[in-house]
Formats: sequence, C-alpha cells, structure tokens
Amino acid sequence: MVTEKVMDLVNQGLMLPLMEEFYTIQGEGYHKGTAAYFIRVGGCDVGCHWCDVKESWNAETHPPTDIDSIVANAAQYSNTIVVTGGEPLTWDMGPLTEGLKAKNLQTHIETSGAYPLTGIWDWICLSPKKNKLPVGDVYDKTDELKVIVYNRHDFIFAEEQAEKVNNNCVLYLQPEWSVREKMIPLIVDYVMKNPKWKISLQTHKYLNIP
Ligand code: SF4
Repeated sequence: MVTEKVMDLVNQGLMLPLMEEFYTIQGEGYHKGTAAYFIRVGGCDVGCHWCDVKESWNAETHPPTDIDSIVANAAQYSNTIVVTGGEPLTWDMGPLTEGLKAKNLQTHIETSGAYPLTGIWDWICLSPKKNKLPVGDVYDKTDELKVIVYNRHDFIFAEEQAEKVNNNCVLYLQPEWSVREKMIPLIVDYVMKNPKWKISLQTHKYLNIP
C-alpha cells in the first residue's frame, strides 16, 4: 500500500510509478536505430482505443520508484535516455531530468502533450491524440511531430497538428501497428504527394525487440 508520504514524493516528481526500464534500440521516428535506455512511466488517462501499452494506464499498479535509482540505472547503459509511458507528463518531469542532465545524459521524451510540459529535454517527440489534445507551449518546443495513422481521418488531423508546430519540427506519419498492412500503402501515397512528411515505422517490432 502506498503511503501518503510516498504519494507526496510522487506528486513532486521525486518518485515515479515505474512500469519498466530497459536498454534497447529506439525503433521509431527521427532517432530510429539508435541505442537508448527507455524509462516507461505508468499513468495515462488519454484512452487511445488502439493503445499497445494499456497496462501502463493505471499508475497504481506500478511501484513508486526513487528517481535517484532510475537515474543511476540509466547512466550505466546509455547516453541517450528516452522517457515514455503511459503519459510521462502526468507527473513532474523536472527532478528526473535534472538528475539525468547532471550525469550529462541526453534526455528524450515521447509524449501526447496532454499535460503541461515539465522537465529539461534535448529532444521532444510529440504524438498528439484527438481525444486529449496537447496543452500549453509544447508545439513551440517540439522537435518531432509523430502522428499515428489508424484511419483516413488521421491525415486531416495530422495536417491540423502540423499547422501548430514550429518550423524546425520534423513531421512523421506512423501506421498504427494493428492496421499497418491497410494503412502503409495509403501513407506511402500520401507522403509522395506531401513530401514535408516522412514515414515512421515501429522497426523494433519488426526486429522483435522491446
Ligand atoms: S497516449 Fe500513449 S499510453 Fe496513453 S492511451 Fe494513448 S497510446 Fe496509450
């Protein structure tokens, strides 16, 4: 049972509900193919019906973990640290990223932007979701916009979101895994007609790695 004191530490970002942490290859987006240490934080109420990490949603099922131990583990493996979820911005990312930066590690985040941006980031990958749109100034700070394409309407949503990001942001369309065979030909066609976009694939799933 989580005590009030522990919940206080979680609410301050000094502890985080840690679902898993692992060293692997970043499979998606701009940094695909790069070795990276992943920190998957529990907790997400965005509710994407196709979510492939639904077990992350309930933060209470993931043990509150001291950020110092998360940082110490990460520093043993890689210079590139990817914080993902769940929705990591459910929590204050300030203390964790300060700890990672104190070790001179590169901090990357994968977020829907559904909550205000906290933390110190070298790379922000924004993957906006229709049912809980990004808030605050995250569009100005985003390095990579990654829109998941589940159906044809997602192309319209992608263009709406691309209007909001800064001019330096790299634009990606990524097929949702369960419908990839149907959507990949449409995405290929779309990118050839609209070359400001690039295709992102979940290459880690093809490589059969986490
Ligand atoms: S934002 Fe991410 S973790 Fe949350 S429901 Fe959507 S896909 Fe799943």
